[in-house]
Amino acid sequence: MRPERLRKRLELEKMMGVDALFKAPGPSAELRKIEEEVKRCTRCPLHESRTQGVFARGDPNADLMFVGEAPGREEDAQGIPFVGPAGKLLDRMIFAMGLGREEVYITNILKSRPPNNRDPRANEVEACFPYLERQIELVRPKIICTLGRPASNALLDTNRSMGDLRGKWHFYNGIPLLPTYHPAYLLRSPGQKARGWHDLRLIVIALAEGPPEPPGLF
Ligand code: URA
Repeated sequence: MRPERLRKRLELEKMMGVDALFKAPGPSAELRKIEEEVKRCTRCPLHESRTQGVFARGDPNADLMFVGEAPGREEDAQGIPFVGPAGKLLDRMIFAMGLGREEVYITNILKSRPPNNRDPRANEVEACFPYLERQIELVRPKIICTLGRPASNALLDTNRSMGDLRGKWHFYNGIPLLPTYHPAYLLRSPGQKARGWHDLRLIVIALAEGPPEPPGLF
């Protein structure tokens, strides 16, 4: 196309909004902005003791999102979620599902490490939750897998035990959500690995055959 015609064509497309369509920031750009925010975040007192905010790892277009609890010592040092011993087991769990660690999206409910890896407090979860909400909106996973009780309770807005929640489908804003044991718990209680694998198999099946539908009104 001649340069003048091309310029006119581009002008016309811009007028019609095509330009906005092409230039609209994709999930990655928006996620990078939030990651920067998380690194500077002072919304809760944990910023005083952490080394750095820990945002996420993996594919921002993933079908499957894992949500853990909070960064531990290794994660706090490296700035990447699930790189310590629990992360190594999570990688093996993902591999056993027939997936690669970079094919899924992995994050936590808390982006800052609690001192001595203590449990997250309600005010910390509340302060950090909007980041996770936005991550879910942008990644739009087909399935969410929560690892352990704090993540499951935060996303399902409940206070139920893992025994009660795990291995069954729940929904977060219409997205199928399956709670399973946290890999750190499986390292302490290897006898529960068979139950953990049962849960992950439900996800493998749902990824292959289509995820469950949210319950209808009728
Ligand atoms: N445990 C978590 O819940 N998240 C991490 O990132 C590491 C360990």
